[in-house]
Amino acid sequence: MPVEIKPKVHNFSAGPCVLPQQVFQQAAQAVLDWDGSGLSILEVSHRSKPFVEVMEKTRALAKELLGAPDHYQVVFLGGGASMGFHMVPQNFMKVGGKGAYANTGTWAKRAIKEAQLLGNATVVGSSEDKNFNYIPKGFSVPNDADYFHFTSNNTIYGTQYKAFPKSPVPLICDMSSDIYSRPVNVADFAMIYAGAQKNMGPAGATMYLFDPNALGKTGRTLSPMMDLANHAAKESMYNTPPVFPVYVIMLTLEWLKHNGGVAAAEKRNQAKADLLYNAIDRLPIFQGVTAKEDRSAMNATFLLKNSALEPAFDEQWKAAGISGIRGHRSVGGYRASMYNALPLESVQALVDVMEEFAKKNG
Ligand SMILES: *Cc1c(COP(=O)(O)O)cnc(C)c1O
Repeated sequence: MPVEIKPKVHNFSAGPCVLPQQVFQQAAQAVLDWDGSGLSILEVSHRSKPFVEVMEKTRALAKELLGAPDHYQVVFLGGGASMGFHMVPQNFMKVGGKGAYANTGTWAKRAIKEAQLLGNATVVGSSEDKNFNYIPKGFSVPNDADYFHFTSNNTIYGTQYKAFPKSPVPLICDMSSDIYSRPVNVADFAMIYAGAQKNMGPAGATMYLFDPNALGKTGRTLSPMMDLANHAAKESMYNTPPVFPVYVIMLTLEWLKHNGGVAAAEKRNQAKADLLYNAIDRLPIFQGVTAKEDRSAMNATFLLKNSALEPAFDEQWKAAGISGIRGHRSVGGYRASMYNALPLESVQALVDVMEEFAKKNG
């Protein structure tokens, strides 16, 4: 493992986002000459022995780092987490059955919309009444639902489940923006899925980690491309997998393992989040967007109380080498995304700018 290299820019992008600098270097090298083979990773068969080994290693690491039960399966497919929204009812909703959903924002809504096309999607908890600035709690999931689906971290709004909801039916989670950021008891879930580009690698691959015993109960005839059991039986090689994204995911997971796995990542992520949220609360010109107890350690949303100061603030953080903190259009203000590979120094750089700006404009 090469020595830690510091990024040139403090990249707070919400996704695609910062990855470890050494992963960028290793990936660049593999594009030019993969492991001294004289070939680029972009020009070898996905059935070749070296790539089959990459796929095997990536699938094994994906499970190992989360401590997934042995019998769980993992596949990497194209289509983004958005295709996952469709894969969920296809693979888990009985014909004429129903899926229960928590509505915590844009991505949850899209998942609900896909389920409605195949059957009955019932919303059992929602935070839409306050523009999704909190996590709904205390709702109950009906026993007759085929599954309960929720979004562990709401990338756009900056909310995150601190405790996962209890469900009498199989639990399915879109974990796109906080996968591998903290320990998770995988055995509690029938399936966890995640687009890679927020914490795991580049855009282009989506991970599906599931209990194969939860499949095959819908009575639906599936297209082979929509059938998770088919993809698992073919070891994620039913068709050409997203070769390069999978390779970069492998490098990123190796980096994570080398740096203490998800338990250590959680500590680093909490330290970064504490540093930034303390500044938001301490400096009177700033204001957090979400309920404090639901604040995301991955995406911190905040406002300048006086929005007329935004152009001056923007100038200042840009001058400090900070990138990607403008808020999503549906929330406004600012959003600082602090995924696994973002160093604490970057958060410190942002906090320094906020402090200096507050002094001048307080
Ligand atoms: C980004 C994101 C998505 C959408 O992912 P795509 O790969 O663009 O389809 C879905 N869910 C969550 C929580 C996200 O953050």
